[in-house]
Amino acid sequence: TTDRSLPGARPVRAPRGNALTTLGWQQEGVLRMLMNNLDPEVAEHPDGLVVYGGTGRAARSWEAFDAMVRTLKTLRSDETMLVQSGKPVGVFRTHEWAPRVLIANSNLVGDWANWEEFRRLEDLGLTMYGQMTAGSWIYIGTQGILQGTYETFGAVARKRFGGTLAGTITLCAGMGGMGGAQPLAVTMNDGVAICVDCDVTRIDRRIAHRYLDTKADDIDHALRLATQARDARTPLSIGLVGNAAEVYPKLLEMSAPIDIVTDQTSAHDPLAYLPFGMDFADMATMATKDPQRFTEEARDAMAAQVEAMVGFQDRGAEVFDYGNSIRDEARKAGYDRAFDFPGFVPAYIRPLFEEGLGPFRWAALSGDPKDIEATDRAIVELFPDNAHLRRWIEMAGERVAFEGLPARICWLGYGERHRAGLKFNEMVASGEISAPIVIGRDHLDSGSVASPYRETEAMADGSDAIADWPLLNALVNTASGASWVSIHHGGGVGMGRSIHAGQVCVADGTELAAQKIDRVLHNDPGMGVIRHVDAGYEHAAAVAAERGVRIPMREN
Ligand code: NAD
Repeated sequence: TTDRSLPGARPVRAPRGNALTTLGWQQEGVLRMLMNNLDPEVAEHPDGLVVYGGTGRAARSWEAFDAMVRTLKTLRSDETMLVQSGKPVGVFRTHEWAPRVLIANSNLVGDWANWEEFRRLEDLGLTMYGQMTAGSWIYIGTQGILQGTYETFGAVARKRFGGTLAGTITLCAGMGGMGGAQPLAVTMNDGVAICVDCDVTRIDRRIAHRYLDTKADDIDHALRLATQARDARTPLSIGLVGNAAEVYPKLLEMSAPIDIVTDQTSAHDPLAYLPFGMDFADMATMATKDPQRFTEEARDAMAAQVEAMVGFQDRGAEVFDYGNSIRDEARKAGYDRAFDFPGFVPAYIRPLFEEGLGPFRWAALSGDPKDIEATDRAIVELFPDNAHLRRWIEMAGERVAFEGLPARICWLGYGERHRAGLKFNEMVASGEISAPIVIGRDHLDSGSVASPYRETEAMADGSDAIADWPLLNALVNTASGASWVSIHHGGGVGMGRSIHAGQVCVADGTELAAQKIDRVLHNDPGMGVIRHVDAGYEHAAAVAAERGVRIPMREN
């Protein structure tokens, strides 16, 4: 189901340069990022409007895509286009400070929030799956997740392996849009990785984009290459074609010397996970033919993969769930130790979220890589004391191949993001950057998501499933002047399991943009700080006190 072309499919590429094709840069930013999400360099399956993450789409149909483009071209600077699950449904007069686009994707009422009902409505043409940044038009290719993955493996290295992955072997699976970041994140931390995917084209694509180094002929070959590189302490990533549900147990049975295990197959959507003994070539047909049976078979296979992961943990490996809900699917298949290993957020990322730290990203609407080079230099100059950040920016500059519009990501916290945003806006104003920059983020951020199996797993006060926070996040970003704002359901971990919000600002070099950016880039990460203060994290409370974030219940 993931790669079926939809009627009207054609290649899409965002306009480049500094000439407007719309009535203003705020609208132009939206238009170019919508198109950029569907650029064949960026989207996993552009003909089906699928950007990444199973069936995460940028538009509901090609007809809806055309209507959005048409509307954006005439949208005035005091109007707002409303998008309901990938289809434009209205244009209202608002004002200049209002977002140019408001988006609600994949939202369902609680009791109806499951895949069966979602698919039924999707088949009727009433909704689409927006994932996180697919339907909110700020996906920037695999680089987007690379920084987060680099941070996570860096944290694993610090926690267990003396600060480096040199001399270790990581086993991971899923070489799709997000999972494809795993090999490069491991080698950037000087480790060796065996990377499994059942779709050889995904492995070849990651090699072409230099995220993956090489491809093994079979399991034995992969292990040989891995142990040689490990012993030489040389970073190396090795693609291995196969079904993770078969390869993981096999490697465990062989007592393979694996130090770290994780997974990023599309387990959040059982119809996108290959069951046992099925040819990958038959997967789409089988999933369509009998979704119920396919789901059960996929869950059984996931249980086998998770059981092997627990087996590696029992033998002392560092094992974590990488945010695809595979533990819960395995539990549904009846495997009772599925939650024996932790999710990556409580294990490594939460202390960063407490500071409002998260995935800050930007793209150059000019299409000129020199503009991103200029922003890279600006970031290093703005934060001279942050060696970790500098290392990332330098490595990213050398090793990351751009996909679509040139873009960059780095993790910045409360008190940092607005400085970067204002600096970029000044550089646009002065002409140092040749066209406006869009500044956004993943929905996987410190204060923009409720997702009890991922970002809000095991919150200190038990508030994992409270979804008021992402809604407040979208409201405050709307009130603060973001260029487009979105509220989604089901991204990352699937239907019924998450509610999350996104925002993007266009730094067009104007004074008005500076005022909006200043507010949004305080208030958006500020949501992360207050959310964690409220949950009782003292580190977050210290950050709030130190950086001046008001917490009414602590004032008197
Ligand atoms: P994707 O659909 O682009 O890629 C998934 C890959 O898994 C595909 O290449 C597919 O061939 C492969 N696959 C499916 N079943 C397999 C099997 N049995 N064995 C081996 N390979 C198999 O998805 P993506 O964008 O890469 O996202 C992957 C998962 O990670 C999703 O569940 C997504 O929600 C989750 N995710 C996590 C984070 C995070 O925070 N860590 C961020 C984004 C996405």
